[in-house]
Amino acid sequence: MKKLFQRNCPDCNDVIYYTDIGNYTKSLKHNYQCRKCYNNRIYTCPNPNNNPKCKNKRNKRAKVCVSCKHYGRKLSEDTKLKISNGTKGENSPNFGKIYTEKEKKHLSNKLKEFRKINPVSDKTKEKMSISAKKHWQPIIEQNKLKMPEKKRYYNDVRRITRQQPIHLLENYNKIGLAGISGAYHVDHMVSKKVGFDNNIDPNIIGNIVNLQIIPWLENVSKIEKCSISIEQLLEKYNKTKC
Ligand SMILES: [Zn+2]
Ligand SMILES: [Zn+2]
Repeated sequence: MKKLFQRNCPDCNDVIYYTDIGNYTKSLKHNYQCRKCYNNRIYTCPNPNNNPKCKNKRNKRAKVCVSCKHYGRKLSEDTKLKISNGTKGENSPNFGKIYTEKEKKHLSNKLKEFRKINPVSDKTKEKMSISAKKHWQPIIEQNKLKMPEKKRYYNDVRRITRQQPIHLLENYNKIGLAGISGAYHVDHMVSKKVGFDNNIDPNIIGNIVNLQIIPWLENVSKIEKCSISIEQLLEKYNKTKC
C-alpha cells in the first residue's frame, strides 16, 4: 500500500498516513484525530440545565449525562411511590440474602473506607434518625409495656438525667468511677425509689434541680436517704418552670 499523504494528529501529534486524496482533504478540512484518539475520546455533557451536579462525562449514545437527564424533573406522587416501592422489602435485590461472617466483615470494612472519603451530611443524618425512630419506636414502646413498672420508672429517670446540662453543676470535672479516691458521682437528691413510691413525675426526679455531684462513697452509703424533702424539690422545680 502506498502512503501518499500524511499529516499529524491534532491531539497526540502522531503521523497519520493516507492513500486516498479524498480522505486526506476531508480530514484536513475537519481536523480529524487519529484512530486511537478518536476511540478514546470523552463525551462531554453540554449541561443544558446548568445543573451544579453535572457529571460532565456522558454516555456515547446519550445527549446529556445521567444527572442532567433527571435534574429539575418533576415527578407525580404516583411515580414517586412506584420508584420508592421498586427497591423496598421483597423487591430489593438483596431481599432475604444471608451473609457469612467473612462477607459481613468485608462489607463493613468497605463502608468504613467509603465513609472516610464521603462523610454523611447533616441532612442525611437527620433523615436517617427519622427513619430509625419510625422503625424502633413501636418496638421500644412494646418492650416498655412488658417491663415491670419500677424498672420503667428508673429507666425514664435515667434517660431524663442524661439530657440535663450536668456540666453546669459543681465538681463536674471530678466525676469518675466508684472505688477511686477523689471520684465523684451524680446523685439524685430525692432518690429514684422515693420518687417511685410517691408517684412523682420522672421529669422532676431527673431534672437538674434534683441533681448534685458528691463523692462516690457518700453516694453509695446514702442509698435511699434523701438530702432534701419532696416539698422542697417541688418548690425548686416550680420556680424554674415560671
Ligand atoms: Zn491522536
Ligand atoms: Zn450534565
